[in-house]
Amino acid sequence: MQCGICAGSCPVSHEMDYTPRQLVRMVQLGLKKEVLNSNTIWICTTCFSCSVRCPRGIRPTELMETLRPIAIAEGVKNKNARFDEIFSGVVGKNGRASEFLLISKYSLKEPEMIKQLPFGFGLFKKGKLPLSVDKMEDTSELKAIFKLEENKEAEK
Ligand code: SF4
Repeated sequence: MQCGICAGSCPVSHEMDYTPRQLVRMVQLGLKKEVLNSNTIWICTTCFSCSVRCPRGIRPTELMETLRPIAIAEGVKNKNARFDEIFSGVVGKNGRASEFLLISKYSLKEPEMIKQLPFGFGLFKKGKLPLSVDKMEDTSELKAIFKLEENKEAEK
């Protein structure tokens, strides 16, 4: 229907290569390469605004969630996919996200992050970027979940 309610509702569409409305149309048109290489599927915060408001029952949120593993399986390597991989690695290991670990690991893979150094330093000076890594006491259940996912991926 292309009414655009999804794009109008999306809080992060201004950061996307293609709005949710455009992405749905691109999927309909079979533009696989463009869809899987767009940053849209990674920028989506899965807030569900679009899926809840769509008058035709299209579920863009679920579409984004479906496209991410397909992009990974197809070997798409862009900065958003890399960030997702690093984020999952940090959370999988510690049970919590650590901004310091995330930023440092991501910076090693994305040299353009050097431009953010003054901003990061400012945060550090204000105590907003602690170097300590907050960990869950027991990560065994979390590790089991990640292992399950790894096994599922290996079976594909
Ligand atoms: S679920 Fe994703 S695409 Fe939909 S409105 Fe929220 S951020 Fe935008």
